[in-house]
Amino acid sequence: MIVDLRSDTVTKPTPAMREAMMQAPVGDDVFGEDPSVIELEKKCASLLGMDAAVFCPSGTMTNQIGIKILTQPYDEVICHKGAHIYKYEGGGLAGNSLVSVRLLEGDRGRISVPEIEANINNVQDVHQPITSGVALENTVVREAGSYYTLDQIKTISDFARKRGLKMHLDGARFFNAIIETGDKAVDYGKHFDSISICLSKGLGAPVGSVLVCKKELEPKARRMRKAFGGGMRQAGFLAAAGTYALNNHITRLKEDHVRAAELGKALAKVSWVKSLMPVDTNIVIFSVTDKTTPEKILNNLAEHQIKAIKFGANEIRLVTHLDFDDAMLEKTIETFKKISA
Ligand SMILES: *Cc1c(COP(=O)(O)O)cnc(C)c1O
Repeated sequence: MIVDLRSDTVTKPTPAMREAMMQAPVGDDVFGEDPSVIELEKKCASLLGMDAAVFCPSGTMTNQIGIKILTQPYDEVICHKGAHIYKYEGGGLAGNSLVSVRLLEGDRGRISVPEIEANINNVQDVHQPITSGVALENTVVREAGSYYTLDQIKTISDFARKRGLKMHLDGARFFNAIIETGDKAVDYGKHFDSISICLSKGLGAPVGSVLVCKKELEPKARRMRKAFGGGMRQAGFLAAAGTYALNNHITRLKEDHVRAAELGKALAKVSWVKSLMPVDTNIVIFSVTDKTTPEKILNNLAEHQIKAIKFGANEIRLVTHLDFDDAMLEKTIETFKKISA
């Protein structure tokens, strides 16, 4: 039994998802003629309470398009210091949007109005880039899947709107957040100009992300998708997997959270673990004691066919997902107890 906890991107399509993909009606989506892509885009827009959506190959692309359509070159975007858009997208914001970022400390990845307010530049001062947007991440990957509540988001969005700032959400794990908070997806749209959701993370689709946005931004989003090389042809096979995932794999995310919490509980009792971030959703991040190294622990786990990744100088990350079941959970916890530093 191989246990792969490196990421929730490692899942393979289920038999039912494969069936939905094989049966999908398709057409050329660059001509706007793929019925399965159109269906997925409509579904995402209405699910999130917005009126347009654009299917893209990756979450990096949906984020990059989102920032591109909300900013002008030389602008500045406010985000958390560990934000995926800044830290894990290959410098894309600099290259694609020609913008700088203002990085905030946050509270476990969640930024707040006072912090945002203190970091808005003075537009009258030619030295300073123009602050044009705020980008939130929900859940926050760098902070072990911490999440915002809708109330917290509303507070930030109301403030940002008052100051003329655009709002982007990196919702790669958006559904993991709302499964915990109980907030309704449909109430999210009004607080943002663009929202990126990933189908290939916890939802278990093989490929794809969707940029949900305001209707007036859609033509620009489609133009940028083309310019970034993301216009796909018979993409309906992939879109059908996404639609299947949205119909069948949202509520089960709770199971991933329960298993992640069990992993966290087990790790808290192990001698080689120094500290553990709170486990709020499906991501577990811990540091190892000075007596060992992440590499050593990862090698020990690998000997038992358990895969995880180093996530920072002294840290290891585990992510639970659709292909991680109770038998695997049990084996992983037993292995934690067995291995020594
Ligand atoms: C995975 C992820 C993305 C998108 O990643 P892709 O691999 O490009 O699909 C964006 N934001 C966050 C927070 C992520 O975890």
